[in-house]
Amino acid sequence: MKTTTRVCIIGGGVVGCSVLYHLTKLGWSDVMLVERSELTSGSTWHAAGGFHTLNGDTNMAALQGYTIRLYKELEELTGMSCGLHHVGGITLADTPERMDMMLAERAKHRFMGLDTEIVTPEEIKKLSPITNVNGVIGGLYDPLDGHLDPSGTTHAYAKAARMGGAEIVLHNPVIETNQRADGTWDVVTKNGTIHAEHVVNAGGLWAREVGALAGVYLPLHPMEHQYLVTEETPEVYERDAELPHVMDPGGESYLRQEGRGICIGFYEQNCDPWAVNGTPQDFGHELLENKLDRISDSVEFAFNRFPVLQRAGIKTIINGPFTFAPDGNPLVGPVPGLRNYWSACGVMAGFSQGGGVGLSLAQWMIEGEAERDVFAMDVARFGDWITADYTRPKVVENYQRRFSVSYPNEELPVARQWNKTPMYDRWAEQGAVFGAQYGMEVVNYFAAHGEADYETPTFRRSNAFDATAREVMAVRNSVGINEVHNFGKYRVTGANARSWLDHIMAGRIPKPGRISLNPMLSPKGKLLGDFTVTCLSETEFLLTASFGMQAIHMRWFEQNGQDGIIIENISTKRIGFQIAGPNARKVLSACTFDDVSHEAFKFLDAREIQLGRLKALVQRVSYSGDLGYEIYVDAADQLALYKILSHSGSAYNMKPFGMRAMMSLRLDKFFGSWNAEFSPDYMPAETGMDRFMAYDKPVDYIGKAAAITERDAGPARKLCTFVVDAKDADVNAYEPIWLNGKVVGFCTSGGFSHYSGKSIAYGFVPTGTIKPDLEVQIEILGEMRPAKRIEKVLFDPESQRMRC
Ligand SMILES: Cc1cc2nc3c(=O)[nH]c(=O)nc-3n(C[C@H](O)[C@H](O)[C@H](O)COP(=O)(O)OP(=O)(O)OC[C@H]3O[C@@H](n4cnc5c(N)ncnc54)[C@H](O)[C@@H]3O)c2cc1C
Repeated sequence: MKTTTRVCIIGGGVVGCSVLYHLTKLGWSDVMLVERSELTSGSTWHAAGGFHTLNGDTNMAALQGYTIRLYKELEELTGMSCGLHHVGGITLADTPERMDMMLAERAKHRFMGLDTEIVTPEEIKKLSPITNVNGVIGGLYDPLDGHLDPSGTTHAYAKAARMGGAEIVLHNPVIETNQRADGTWDVVTKNGTIHAEHVVNAGGLWAREVGALAGVYLPLHPMEHQYLVTEETPEVYERDAELPHVMDPGGESYLRQEGRGICIGFYEQNCDPWAVNGTPQDFGHELLENKLDRISDSVEFAFNRFPVLQRAGIKTIINGPFTFAPDGNPLVGPVPGLRNYWSACGVMAGFSQGGGVGLSLAQWMIEGEAERDVFAMDVARFGDWITADYTRPKVVENYQRRFSVSYPNEELPVARQWNKTPMYDRWAEQGAVFGAQYGMEVVNYFAAHGEADYETPTFRRSNAFDATAREVMAVRNSVGINEVHNFGKYRVTGANARSWLDHIMAGRIPKPGRISLNPMLSPKGKLLGDFTVTCLSETEFLLTASFGMQAIHMRWFEQNGQDGIIIENISTKRIGFQIAGPNARKVLSACTFDDVSHEAFKFLDAREIQLGRLKALVQRVSYSGDLGYEIYVDAADQLALYKILSHSGSAYNMKPFGMRAMMSLRLDKFFGSWNAEFSPDYMPAETGMDRFMAYDKPVDYIGKAAAITERDAGPARKLCTFVVDAKDADVNAYEPIWLNGKVVGFCTSGGFSHYSGKSIAYGFVPTGTIKPDLEVQIEILGEMRPAKRIEKVLFDPESQRMRC
């Protein structure tokens, strides 16, 4: 065993072996993997080996596509068999809502190069004669679906890695991971200590324990999972071709052929978290006790869906544990707060996702960033607010919902009110319908007396439509108030604050008392953040950005820190309100003796203003596109601030508004939003962020060279705004854009502009196709809807309201 290495991976399951292989593939050969037992000794050996591309997150689906295509390459490279069965798979839809989900998925796949197809019940019966299609409306067929041999595949990754120079050490548990002052690691194993520049936790079932060795809490939990294998049955062995997979979300089951019999697994409601107090160190190649009573309802359902099961005897029952994160996606990337410590854990579908996880992590380690936006699996998408008491019930919820329809407007019920502001009860009294963002309760809209206090999950316009329209018009006609707790906020202080910001931000850093909008870029020029930067003094700045990016942004700041600055995350400490609408100035002015006239307090000004007993930071900015102010105080003073503002606002019939209205208001001005129009998948010039770039700033800021190259070459695609002739469903995200019978682009987001009464879509199309009044079609839930590009914003094109 070598005792120094560039990378030491802990854990030889399919994920650890994939990371090891991808590191060698991308050029790092001084890498090793340490396994406490044999390869596959965790979840990997008892997996059912199924793989598929379907994932609610588009980037995850693309990485799953990569994983599946990789197996052939792996077989060719190593000469080993992965035991591939590319039999295709059908996901059944037995309700209109499930059919909508299939239609939305199919639409996304069109620009991802995935050849999925919507199939009728008759076609399903033809593809899979053992399926009883009674009650089935249709399905989604994916020719890429299939299954493999879990052990053979893991060993193929291992062999490919060894061929690239990697070392694998078996029967050698890691017992300590100790960081040296220079950021490198001593990995203490049973057989000696390894000095490693980087450590990767691929501990699978033991990832929590491996993380604890370095003082890290990783939000994942193991769940028990059962599948059955039947005896040989003529319906299977008398066929010429292998049966395709059938996912039956209504029955919470997945089915495939296993040899001459059938394998069927269940995601049952009556499920059990496993090893709540930690995974035993002596757990290995054993299975858990069968718990058939827990899946009896699902089995009964399956007997009806697949009558052949009634005749085929059960040969084997497998009950094994594997890990999930609260949202079911992996936990990958640099662990916040630690140098050179990487996570490759929480991978619940190692054979669909393992390749993509390995590729992304290897790119991140070697090139400094992954090729595509990996937010959906970034270990830092959960902040430091998450604890085991949040993780466990969310993991159970996720397991139970594995086959549920995921709606774009859905708010999940478990672990709610995890964090809330002092305003929570005051909003609730006014009919607030809440959602949760990054563990924080956020008002989506206010239901009027007599309206349902619950938003119906749907792919179409929801029952929040009228309430949202009322709130939008209250802002546009007079003034509205909304909470600004769901922004990430950072205080940057110190003598070098300005020079550091100039280095990390790609826009202009404002003068004292002023605000500027600033893209933050990766070295390759990708968007890492869209920040509002406020200069309070030469040594004190406030940054605001997306609330859900807090841990990711703090990690980036720390990785790119400098002497002479202090960065504090004050997201939940400094909160307050925005007031917006033509009467916003009058409301502000009525609560202060300070001069807040336009002449004294201009657009993009920021200053402290005395509001009653409170000294508030007021920023004249507006995401609604209207005259607006953001007003911040310490969290303890939020209720007092509300009292002051609502007292003044009552003269102008000021109304509260929620996030649904906020997202509609922004459409009127073509404002983009983080994780939709702006994300690490995109560069500044293609998104229109270039208008905030300081290309000529005399500082070599991060991403400058790449951004200049993009600008000079001219982006190949550009973000455009379209008015859609929509029916009862607006664009959500990733709907394909068709031109002359071909998919030429995709939508980033959209919705209904209640102010203009128009359905709006934002989307990328090739630069060469862009012309005034470009007419395209956007596929929404399987229907081609005509859409026309517009250039003039829908509200206040001269920005008289916002700026004057
Ligand atoms: C019943 C069942 C059916 C499944 N079916 C499918 C399926 O059809 N398709 C699919 O994609 N996925 C399926 N899965 C999930 C799949 O098994 C997992 O996604 C995958 O195995 C995770 O791999 P891993 O490498 O992350 O973890 P693991 O396989 O758990 O590997 C972790 C490794 O780390 C080692 N290790 C731990 N601690 C230490 C230490 N201190 N020192 C050294 N080594 C250590 C362990 O010995 C182990 O080998 C199924 C799982 C179960 C239980």
